[in-house]
Amino acid sequence: MVANNFLNIVANLKQANKVLVLGHIMPDGDDISSVLSLTLGLKKLGKEVIPAIDWKIPSYLSEIDEVSLIRSFEEVDIKNFAPDIIAIVDASSPDRVGRFSQYLNDYNVLVIDHHATNTLFGNINWVDPTFGATAQMILRINRELEVDYDERLALINLLGIETDTGFFRYSNADERVFKDAAALISLGAKPDVIARMILENKRLEQFKLLSRMIEKLKIESEGLLAYSYLSKEDYEELNCTDEDSGGFVSEIRSIKGVEVAIFFYEYTEGEVHISFRSKEWFDVGKVALLIGGGGHPRAAGASVKGKIEDIVNEVVELTISEIKNQKP
Ligand code: 5GP
Ligand code: MN
Ligand code: MN
Repeated sequence: MVANNFLNIVANLKQANKVLVLGHIMPDGDDISSVLSLTLGLKKLGKEVIPAIDWKIPSYLSEIDEVSLIRSFEEVDIKNFAPDIIAIVDASSPDRVGRFSQYLNDYNVLVIDHHATNTLFGNINWVDPTFGATAQMILRINRELEVDYDERLALINLLGIETDTGFFRYSNADERVFKDAAALISLGAKPDVIARMILENKRLEQFKLLSRMIEKLKIESEGLLAYSYLSKEDYEELNCTDEDSGGFVSEIRSIKGVEVAIFFYEYTEGEVHISFRSKEWFDVGKVALLIGGGGHPRAAGASVKGKIEDIVNEVVELTISEIKNQKP
């Protein structure tokens, strides 16, 4: 879905005094970057802003001091704050904001997102899947609002562009991505600082977990599909949490000849997250939608309840038949 209400969104933000900025559950770099870049931009304009996410913030991002501004669901007294606007970033459907979704009917909701699967659930939606990262859309909003960028804001804004493009490697890393990154680097952002923080900050336990994931790796569809999974016990046994397996799905995709990679992980007993990635032609967003999730053609996900082994079998079967359908 596409909806171009950029100027309308900017006008609404300009008028507002109090804004609640929401990110999505299981937040990633683009989400944290977008939440904080919008928050810091609006604060610079003198507005009262509360950024909030109904999920634990991944510890690999907590080296960014500003992350401590982000409130949990319990910490937001929405009646007392009485925001003029709820601005939701990088979330494609109301369930993605977790328990905050119960407030959406009572407020003016702005949705700013780059997922093609967006359900346009806001009162005003700016949804444009041609952007590699929602953080690029926030950059445009801040520019239109004439926000003065300092080095911190530039760094935080660049974070989302780096992470959602796999550090400028994925097919969404187009000319505009490089131009936006260059603009933020001119404003003082250091891309290598972000890359080291996220890519070169691993605990030794994470390598043991990676090794376990590789032991369980399976190949199907004549080498086109590769998948693996980790259960709650795997994490506990190796003194890890699901945070430690960030990036595993990209490792699976990196296998020569593999078009589709799937990584399943049991983040809570009986609840499994499924990460899909593809390289060139397979639309993983379609498969994710079929099982109640969403995402992009080359990166998508879904969360499902049940026994991990059953979920693995069902989703692998579904993907194998979808590969036959989509094969060029
Ligand atoms: P990841 O595999 O990193 O969790 O997610 C990859 C992409 O799919 C991201 O763009 C993310 O926003 C989207 N995604 C992941 N899980 C879900 C989900 O449960 N629902 C929806 N709608 N999108 C998801
Ligand atoms: Mn995201
Ligand atoms: Mn994103």
